[in-house]
Parts: sequence; C-alpha cells; structure tokens
Amino acid sequence: MHIHPSETLPRHHKETLLGQKGCVLWFCGLSGSGKSTIANSLEHVLHDKGRFAIRLDGDNLRGGLNSNLGFSDNDRLENIRRTAELAKVLAANGVIVLCSLITPRGAFRDLARGILGRDFHEFYVKADFATCEARDPKGLYAKAAAGEIKDFTGRDSAFEEPQYPDLVLDTETATVQDSVFEILEYLRGKGITA
Ligand code: ADP
Repeated sequence: MHIHPSETLPRHHKETLLGQKGCVLWFCGLSGSGKSTIANSLEHVLHDKGRFAIRLDGDNLRGGLNSNLGFSDNDRLENIRRTAELAKVLAANGVIVLCSLITPRGAFRDLARGILGRDFHEFYVKADFATCEARDPKGLYAKAAAGEIKDFTGRDSAFEEPQYPDLVLDTETATVQDSVFEILEYLRGKGITA
C-alpha cells in the first residue's frame, strides 16, 4: 500500500471506479407532475445497470437538513441552495445525483445552475395544474383548495416554465417508462454513462 496523505484523489479516478461521470439531474415541475416517480424509477434502472445514483428529494430533505425552512421565496431559495451545494459535493465524487424540487422560478434554477455549473442538467417534468390536481398523490391540492397551504405553487404563486431545459418530460403523454428511457438516452449522449 502506497500512501499519499497530501494529495487529493482526483474526481476522474472515482468516476473511473464507478464507470460513470458525476452529474446532477435537476427535475423541476409542479407538485404531482412526476419528478419523484421518475427519479425513483430511474434510480432503480441505473442501479440494475451497475450505476451509482443518489436521490435528493425536496420533500425528504425538508424533514432534516432543511427542516427549518418554509415555502416563502426566501426559504425556497435557501432550500435550493443547500440542496445544490450537497449535490455539488456528491457529483464531484462521481455520483449521478437526482434532485427533485419544484424549483418554480427561473431565478431559483439559475441559483442551482450557478452553484453546479457544467454538472447541472435541467429536466422539466411537465404536466399542467389540472392534471396534477387530479392526480394529487399527496393530497396537497385538496389541502390547498381548502386554504390549508400557503404559497402553493400553481395556485398562490406562479410556476415559471423553463426557457431552455435540457430535457422536457411531458408526463401527460409519456409514461414513466418512456421518460426513464429518454433520460438514459440523454445520459449516454452526454457521455455520463457508457
Ligand atoms: P412530484 O414528485 O412531481 O411531486 P410525484 O412523483 O410524487 O410528483 O407524483 C406523481 C404522480 O403522478 C404519481 O402518483 C404517479 O404515479 C402519477 N403519474 C401518472 N402518470 C405519470 C407519468 N406519466 N409520469 C410520472 N408520474 C405519473
């Protein structure tokens, strides 16, 4: 064993070990559009292919790292900043990071892009308000309609559609399987996976 305590282990050595490039796939879109469902399914498929991915889910992070944050613009911005900084560390260590956060404003996505630079890939998970409201997987639309949720995106505050996303996943027309397939093609095209 040869020890080099003062040398940093280069990123590409870890990427070679993992057989992939580190990156951050940033899934944005309305609540219920399918961000978590697609990221979860993608994680399984990547795992089965021997690729290493980690999911950072906006809702889950609010239970711990971001538990002191609410849904005002300032708190959402801080939620995104912390998530992006965490994702940055993981991507710099060769991980494929799947971030699912509503990220309703262009300025919020610009913040994440600014932190992550070339590792940032913007995926717009697209479904309109009525579709998400009909799905209502977490019962949030019903709560919002009853006035129990403040600052509910699409209702009390706007979702600004991304201008130039790297990928649009239209979940009104594409199945989860279609979206996962499209992402796998994208990752191959970018040389992130072989
Ligand atoms: P988000 O993470 O964007 O808040 P979720 O993934 O939690 O959304 O919920 C999306 C819901 O929509 C799930 O219940 C999922 O089964 C359903 N759904 C229906 N069609 C699709 C589709 N084509 N792609 C993704 N999700 C879909």
